[in-house]
Amino acid sequence: MQFADRLQNVETSAIRELFKLLGKPGIISFAGGFPDPGLFDVEGIAMASQAVLSANPGPVLQYGATEGYQPLREGISDFMAAKGAEVEPSGLIVTTGSQQALDLIGKTMISPGDKVIVEAPTFLATIQCFRLYGAHIIGAPIDANGVDVDRLEQLIVEHKPKLVYLVPSFGNPSGATLTLERRKRVLEIAVRTGTLVVEDDPYGELYFDQAPPPSLLALSAHVPGSRDCLAYCGSFSKILSPGLRVGWLIAPPQLLANATMCKQFSDAHTSNLTQAICAHYLTLSRLDATLDVVRATYAERARVMAQALTRALGDALAFDAPQGGMFFWARLTGAQGQSANAAEFSKRAIAHGVAFVPGAPFFAHDPDLSSLRLSFATADVARIEEGIARLGQAF
Ligand code: PMP
Repeated sequence: MQFADRLQNVETSAIRELFKLLGKPGIISFAGGFPDPGLFDVEGIAMASQAVLSANPGPVLQYGATEGYQPLREGISDFMAAKGAEVEPSGLIVTTGSQQALDLIGKTMISPGDKVIVEAPTFLATIQCFRLYGAHIIGAPIDANGVDVDRLEQLIVEHKPKLVYLVPSFGNPSGATLTLERRKRVLEIAVRTGTLVVEDDPYGELYFDQAPPPSLLALSAHVPGSRDCLAYCGSFSKILSPGLRVGWLIAPPQLLANATMCKQFSDAHTSNLTQAICAHYLTLSRLDATLDVVRATYAERARVMAQALTRALGDALAFDAPQGGMFFWARLTGAQGQSANAAEFSKRAIAHGVAFVPGAPFFAHDPDLSSLRLSFATADVARIEEGIARLGQAF
């Protein structure tokens, strides 16, 4: 078959290939980016499902508006207001996961050859999605405090990108969180250079002790002109359930209108049923209690993983313990005379019954071959201890 030229820009991710190996019985996987299903508020979701099907079955089982189910747009508007960001229900659309919001941004903004700046490393699916639209992707360096804003500004001036994509809070895979001061500078740079910044925020609510600084969207109220340069992607996947496939996009009016038009051709609208379930769930006042449990559980797992990693690998592995999210981002140092190649280590680890993801695919270019990502979200404390001990044996 003669497939479209655009497919030449992308390949199946190395991570997918790795996932094929994970079927092995008994393997402990830190590779996926899945929330722990044991933490889903099944009772609350069941109550919400029952309520929407008894009270209002017609509209929720019917076709609906591309922009989203109105009560949910209102619910998301309130949810964002509680996080310090004012947005009218008409200023957002509901998307089929935030992945679709990213796809719609790619579709509406990126022509073949356009430059896009992302963090190095960044969320792999965004690299793949933007490449499908022909983006030339440039990585900006990061540290534990998020993107290096001086370097980001230089890259923007040099490349005049179509957009900059950032995951400012508990990044995937980096776990890094952009400081308040850097957030303000990102907004100032966006205004000064007239650059669209896309803020992807699926993890901001998953903090351990302290909430991350306000989102770029919330801060945009204090930086004149910056709201016009900002798109925001939100999601219920990590706070409620990813299987519901409900996310949202907040963007300046013209971008939102074009994204809505593209969504019409793509899936007409996000499932009304799952949107209505989310909308009703938000009215049950259960989310805060659910999030308290998720935060405490992930905080404990991250603490246990940090200790176990230090015990098993010592100075052979360097990492900054994350303050939220779902991931450890680490680097093999080459200490103890060992190779610092994470892909080779990954193969040995799988042979020892434990899996993680080598970090290279998360870089758009110039990968750090010593880097790797471990998720602490899905396995319980006992399996984290056991899995990291196996990692020590594999080393
Ligand atoms: N952005 C980032 C940074 C992610 O890690 C993910 C999921 N792992 C998504 C977006 C997409 O999530 P969803 O489509 O489930 O909302």
